[in-house]
Amino acid sequence: MKKDVRKVVIAGNWKMNMTPSEAVKAVKETAALTAGKNGCDVVLCVPFVDIAVAVEAAKGTNVKIGAQNVHFEAKGAFTGEISASMLLEAGAEYVIIGHSERRQYFGETDETVNKRTKAALAAGLKVILCLGEVLEERQAGITAEIVSMQTKLDLADISAEDLKNVIIAYEPVWAIGTGLTATPDQAEEVCAIIRNVVCGLYGCEAAEGLTIQYGGSMNEGNAAELLSKVNVDGGLIGGASLVPEKFAKIVDAAQA
Ligand code: PEP
Repeated sequence: MKKDVRKVVIAGNWKMNMTPSEAVKAVKETAALTAGKNGCDVVLCVPFVDIAVAVEAAKGTNVKIGAQNVHFEAKGAFTGEISASMLLEAGAEYVIIGHSERRQYFGETDETVNKRTKAALAAGLKVILCLGEVLEERQAGITAEIVSMQTKLDLADISAEDLKNVIIAYEPVWAIGTGLTATPDQAEEVCAIIRNVVCGLYGCEAAEGLTIQYGGSMNEGNAAELLSKVNVDGGLIGGASLVPEKFAKIVDAAQA
């Protein structure tokens, strides 16, 4: 297991926060605070209406901009949805797919996660694919089965070449926005399970190259320990990404 063969990626998920003018300010502040921190990639996944201005504000900096969802169809009568080509033309480089809030509140399933992932990759976006167990599943002792199944279903029919543009974010649902964080050992254990499943699907070289983030109440206080784990290659950060100073400290923790 070699962490130095993988890219460490610290990504913020702003969720439904930040108007366009607030986004410009936050992107500029984040860029200033993380300038020259080249030990990881820095990504901010912003609301759709913020993408164009965020891309402009991030120009010439090390901050990359992503979206938080994408539809699987290229165009058509899908009111309220956004296509991959729209995201690309607005300047987005990344897209989060399968976040637990989309699964929980908006009917996202492993099947739709897989369809969105395929469409995003075909269009040339990089995907941050989220998966993880809910509290009842952890308490029932079936975390490994759940994340293994999600990994297989979400990556179904995705080529080894396309996998190079996928990051998996392991996000135990019980830890998201709750202030409860998985212990570093819990995060490491499940990220290793996911990597092992990917090894079975694509071969171990591909699995060794895959960036697997942890997400769930990661903050400036716990990031260093979580990121020190060999299979934890970054973080997907909600709440703390809204405060540039906090987010920048997590980026600092990823420089080691
Ligand atoms: C998330 O939104 O993916 C997340 C992990 O949120 P938080 O950091 O607020 O728990």
